[in-house]
Amino acid sequence: MKDQKLGTKCVQAGYTPGNGEPRQVPIIQSTTFKYDTSEDMGKLFDLEASGYFYTRLQNPTNDHVAAKIAALEGGTAGMLTSSGQAANFFALFNICEAGSHIVASSSIYGGTFNLISVTMAKMGIESTFVSPDCTEEELNAAFKDNTRAVFGETIANPALTVLDIEKFAKAAHTHGVPLIVDNTFPTPVNCRPIEWGADIVTHSTTKYMDGHGVAVGGAIVDSGKFDWMAHADKFPGLCTPDESYHGIVYAEKFGNAGAFITKATSQLMRDLGCIQSPQHAFYLNLGLESLHVRMPKHVENGQAVAEFLENHPAVEAVHYPGLKSDPYYERAQKYLGNGGCGVVSFEIKGGRKAAEAFMKKLKLAAIETHVADARTCCLNPATSTHRQMTDEQLAAAGIPAGLVRISCGLEDKEDLIADLAQALE
Ligand SMILES: *Cc1c(COP(=O)(O)O)cnc(C)c1O
Repeated sequence: MKDQKLGTKCVQAGYTPGNGEPRQVPIIQSTTFKYDTSEDMGKLFDLEASGYFYTRLQNPTNDHVAAKIAALEGGTAGMLTSSGQAANFFALFNICEAGSHIVASSSIYGGTFNLISVTMAKMGIESTFVSPDCTEEELNAAFKDNTRAVFGETIANPALTVLDIEKFAKAAHTHGVPLIVDNTFPTPVNCRPIEWGADIVTHSTTKYMDGHGVAVGGAIVDSGKFDWMAHADKFPGLCTPDESYHGIVYAEKFGNAGAFITKATSQLMRDLGCIQSPQHAFYLNLGLESLHVRMPKHVENGQAVAEFLENHPAVEAVHYPGLKSDPYYERAQKYLGNGGCGVVSFEIKGGRKAAEAFMKKLKLAAIETHVADARTCCLNPATSTHRQMTDEQLAAAGIPAGLVRISCGLEDKEDLIADLAQALE
């Protein structure tokens, strides 16, 4: 079954019912699990046996869906989290602690940028941000003795820059640390970062994986390829005894294939919570069953809308890695052979006022703080998420006042283009 194709995995991986069992992944709506003897349960607490005892740490519904995502990404283990933010925090905090340092691409989601630069800094974890287009020398120069992880996004939200995964993986491995890649926008249908050298992959499942704007969630997948013991001095949490589990050494007991996710589950979920609810995992699985059918349509609509906008006289510039004119076109051809995603951003002539007037006239595309939904939606950062900033501050942040981010849904592209055309008039 190892060489199943991606679409088959989207539909079937992660859950195989036995004789007479539910065909669809069952929602195990139970906080707790029953045992015949304390001894049986004690083995679970000691990580001597695998099983369930409390849904704050693990739930069977979540594990079926996490196994599907791990199969899609080509990883050895996976887990679901309550949100994409929790996934990125857990992926980093599983190997970083006070005194550690992170190298991150500067072109990442705003929430993750704040997480790393402000909140994790308060925990004593430093960071250095580098341009996704920096040279190898500049990238290598960002590392310090206490660097423990490298972080980037395959396609950045909302900048739509494309990460040179091989370059970042090479630098990370030269310095003995893993590369963590947030693969939310392409999904494993359009890019599998592990195949390019990433060690850990994260997702905001809220976006295309769910795909219907139903449930906030996140996921972490481990490639199983990073050799923790070879860098034991850097990763004491994985390579020295965990006193809260009778001295277990995760990297020894669970090997490279299982250590990272087992530690994140048994320590971080235990102490911090952030589990996805089984009900949300069920919704997520419904989305995953059609992910391989939906992604090509999002890409087709994104490409058509980007090409229409590029040729429109009221439009100053379009950012979409599928356009030949885009600075990331070559890199997208390499990493995103089937296309990237359905999100396009463009600058409208006339700045903030023109953007506001344009968006008011849209009939199909709704104004929302969301992307990657079946329904087309759009946002003008200058009048919404970034409205506290002046035009000068926006320009300095690389977000022109007239920038509109449009997330192309699954409608017919002719109708989307007609809607944009009437609103641009
Ligand atoms: C939305 C998003 C997140 C945060 O995910 P939530 O599910 O909203 O917490 C992280 N990374 C990327 C690339 C995103 O688009």
